[in-house]
Amino acid sequence: MDCIFCKIVKGELPANKVYEDEHVVAFHDINPIAPVHVLTIPKKHITSVLDIKPEDKELIGHLHLSLQKVAAEVGVDETGFRVITNTGVHGQQAVFHIHYHLIGGRQLEWKM
Ligand code: IMP
Repeated sequence: MDCIFCKIVKGELPANKVYEDEHVVAFHDINPIAPVHVLTIPKKHITSVLDIKPEDKELIGHLHLSLQKVAAEVGVDETGFRVITNTGVHGQQAVFHIHYHLIGGRQLEWKM
């Protein structure tokens, strides 16, 4: 499978990692839209939110808990941040390996 995020998981592509454990890896986005912009992904290839299976419940819960560690690691756990998972065409998903954008480091607006 030609998935760039699977290649990052396997170490075949470089990434500026901020957190990693047995199940997830978090790394800085190459094209940040805010002072802090980190992507957190499961090591298992799941295409999008729509492809999460019942057996992935624990993994996705684990990933959410890891977001707390990622936020602390990049120093936004006290100021706050936003977590976004773009899905499908209207969501403008560009990389089809589920990923959670953690964005912060400045006051965010909500209007799109
Ligand atoms: P989305 O699929 O639209 O949610 O966004 C994909 C994100 O992945 C974008 O913000 C890209 O800048 C980011 N991205 C694509 N390739 C890489 C990479 O090799 N390293 C880090 N971030 C990447």
